[in-house]
Amino acid sequence: MVKKVLIANRGEIALRVLRACKELGISTVAVHSTADNAAMHVRLADESVCIGPPPSRDSYLNIPSIVAACEISGADAVHPGYGFLSENARFADILDAHGITFIGPTADHIRIMGDKIEAKRTAKQLGIPVVPGSAGAVTEDGEALKIADEIGYPVIVKASAGGGGRGMKVARTRDDMVLALQTARQEAGAAFGDDAVYIEKYLEKPRHIEVQVFGDGAGNAIHLGERDCSLQRRHQKVWEEANSPALTAEQRERIGTICANAMRDLKYRGAGTIEFLYENGEFYFIEMNTRLQVEHPVTEAITGMDLVHEQIRVASGQGLSATQEEIVFSGHAIECRINAEDARTFAPSPGKIDYYHAPGGLGVRVDSAVYQGYSIPPFYDSLIGKLIVHGRNRTECMMRLRRALDEIVVDGVKTTLPLFRDLVDNADVGKGAYDIHWLEKYLAGDA
Ligand code: ADP
Repeated sequence: MVKKVLIANRGEIALRVLRACKELGISTVAVHSTADNAAMHVRLADESVCIGPPPSRDSYLNIPSIVAACEISGADAVHPGYGFLSENARFADILDAHGITFIGPTADHIRIMGDKIEAKRTAKQLGIPVVPGSAGAVTEDGEALKIADEIGYPVIVKASAGGGGRGMKVARTRDDMVLALQTARQEAGAAFGDDAVYIEKYLEKPRHIEVQVFGDGAGNAIHLGERDCSLQRRHQKVWEEANSPALTAEQRERIGTICANAMRDLKYRGAGTIEFLYENGEFYFIEMNTRLQVEHPVTEAITGMDLVHEQIRVASGQGLSATQEEIVFSGHAIECRINAEDARTFAPSPGKIDYYHAPGGLGVRVDSAVYQGYSIPPFYDSLIGKLIVHGRNRTECMMRLRRALDEIVVDGVKTTLPLFRDLVDNADVGKGAYDIHWLEKYLAGDA
């Protein structure tokens, strides 16, 4: 088993990882920027190392500083959390060269899944259903028009190096196509330094459904069911639930088995998420994330499995703690992402939390790194906490969520809590009747 884990992250996920390490009797090293001197993950860790000034590129993304922090503290493993360096293949390679365990997949698998065209090609080879589209990057406009004619309009032009919903353009007709190609290439070049684009059929009203997978790196793999993350704003997930209100047990079993078998064949190691768009009973692969996701607690709630424990086990070469047959899905869970943002405009709202009260009671979990008197720095993302609620069924889960949202108090900064208080009483949300466009329409007053 690894002995001392350096947590290369901040905020709620740093605390989440720290808790798992404590339970397993593993020492923890926090790293932090000068903006995070008073952060909870620094206070609760066994040791801490300051790795630089506030901007992420000088601290949480600064590979030499983080490797130096490992050397100073004697950490034998690094947990990258999500975001920052979690999907940076070079970081995984560098740790490997220093004899430090990266708690995550191999650098090769990170690299493959980080390139969307390569990821889609690999997924297809592994038997995962993909969105119809071009076989690879498309450089010629003539070729692009031919492919679009074949798959039929509307189509979407996407950046190969894409991320965060950038570099995507929809073309509804042949006339839109040249401009869509041009703007997608331009955006991709500016944002990612790589203007390669590819073409896909545009799905009009899909849901976002993702499958949690786990592999031991030696050819054993399991799936832990799905999460429905269709409630999004600007491609950012806002509310996630497990199971998906849209799937039957048979559909869950079918797509889960496809994903687990694919990870077995890939000899994937660690936690991964295979993301799909789901429309009219069909699944279409869009990407794979080779890390722990923000919304992993809903899966933990319905399976009872601690995904960070599992990551550490697998990284320590101890294999998976359960077989597929031993995984039992129980009840329903919902997560609300509480951001320090205006609930209508989503403008960030950093600053001091004057008063904080966390909800509690049966089936209620709060993953957060804030406390009363804490000042949210303006340098990082605005996620300040996650409220995760579990019930024996979706109705009980919603009742409990409504109650927990009544209890929680965060004063001093604006938060997205008012939005969740509206959503929990909304009829469509109550029925689980939403697609990936629902929330944007709702916010615009059209739903
Ligand atoms: P990113 O990595 O930039 O987030 P994704 O490929 O995961 O890019 O797509 C982000 C979002 O864009 C999806 O959740 C979906 O809302 C939309 N999208 C992507 N591909 C398609 C498609 N073929 N049809 C319809 N919507 C799509």
